[in-house]
Amino acid sequence: MRPALAFGRFRGTIGGVTIEIINTGSELLLGRILNTHQQWLCSRLTQAGYAVTRQVLVSDRGEDIQRAVREGLSRADLVITTGGLGPTCDDITRERIAELLGRPLMFDAAVSESIRSFFVSRGRPVPPRTRVEAMVPQGATVVPNRQGTAPGLRMEAAPNPFRPGGQRSWLVMLPGPPRELRPMFDEEILPWITRQFPQASAFVCRTLKTAGIGESNMEELISEPLRHLTDAGMDLGFCARVGEVDVRFVARGSDAAAMVAEAEAITRRLAGDAVFGEQDEVLEGVLVRELTRRGQTLALAESCTGGHLAHRITNIPGASAVFLAGYVTYANAAKARTLGVREETLREFGAVSEAVARQMAEGARAASGADWALSVTGIAGPSGGTPDKPVGTVWMALAGPDGTEAIQKLNRFDRETFKFTTGQQALHLLFRHLVRKAG
Ligand code: ATP
Ligand code: MG
Repeated sequence: MRPALAFGRFRGTIGGVTIEIINTGSELLLGRILNTHQQWLCSRLTQAGYAVTRQVLVSDRGEDIQRAVREGLSRADLVITTGGLGPTCDDITRERIAELLGRPLMFDAAVSESIRSFFVSRGRPVPPRTRVEAMVPQGATVVPNRQGTAPGLRMEAAPNPFRPGGQRSWLVMLPGPPRELRPMFDEEILPWITRQFPQASAFVCRTLKTAGIGESNMEELISEPLRHLTDAGMDLGFCARVGEVDVRFVARGSDAAAMVAEAEAITRRLAGDAVFGEQDEVLEGVLVRELTRRGQTLALAESCTGGHLAHRITNIPGASAVFLAGYVTYANAAKARTLGVREETLREFGAVSEAVARQMAEGARAASGADWALSVTGIAGPSGGTPDKPVGTVWMALAGPDGTEAIQKLNRFDRETFKFTTGQQALHLLFRHLVRKAG
């Protein structure tokens, strides 16, 4: 019998708390933006041991918001809304929920002052419309917004007019912009949820981030060795993403921590340097951290990825401590002039070749003085392939203190996926060298 695998689902881990999410925003229904809050909030809650029981997306119209909130409050212990807390005329979540629950909106001087100082500290005049963001439904708790002006709101419906027997529910309103919602949820709301709705039993959820081993190979590698743990009730889940696979262990009860720790140790031993991180870590973040720890530096020589690698590295706070230079050398002439790739090498082997990848990496390392230099050269497609170098052919090289290693890959994807996958393979090449060096 095969071990039970839970794909995006946790068997037997649903707690007693019912949580519903209401996303608001007509632009989401028009398909203009993707509802990322749904996925992000569900993932955060799941990792903390809570299960979302229902999620709906509604327009910015008042009656749609009110109907969804009324339905949510008729069933759930906690209803979370997103969006519509801002100052424009389509931002009506606050007013309509206050109206639904019969709570008058009161001007809150402290909120008004923090909105004022938000603009003053940025040297901007305070827009008069932001006054509505300082209106707080009676009895609601204000949740500070460090990244923007509209605060979040938390309120208790007790007695709850929409639930049988008046049973109490909670309502949390979060702002729409992801860069405001996410820190607010992590810093203020999730800690409050864990206090307000304590777990009946210990819950441990752990994700290992891996690259370089496909989903089914990973399953083959670890599912049998973890069988005694999955038989004992631990959930094992795999989530394949572009260029990486998440391996997730979930357990409840008094043995939860020990089971998950054992599963992690077995997986790390079997998968080796395919495991690059934990929970929400990204490969570029791990590399910036590891290079910083070692006091080492990095340069990049990119052709087919067009600066994608440099973009990812510089997305990480603190990248300046390790990242010296990125050369985007798309044309052969640029490879020769900027990185010193030899004309005869380009002529003899072509730009997409082991020899050119090596010379690009070594040239970037010499030009920048970095400890490590990564290069990538390939054929993204859809055109440009030949019988011996089909579309998707990529060479990448890592030049380092002990020499240069080059590897070849075949990445047949659309151009964006091609860039990410290729970038992931190049970053993982450096990761493997750093791990190896560490012994
Ligand atoms: P603002 O003060 O910016 O108006 P708000 O709280 O009123 O914030 P909305 O107006 O609903 O929020 O949304 C603001 C922006 O946040 C949207 O234009 C969109 O870019 C983003 N956003 C809102 N909801 C979502 C969602 N569910 N998923 C992804 N992005 C979202
Ligand atoms: Mg808005």
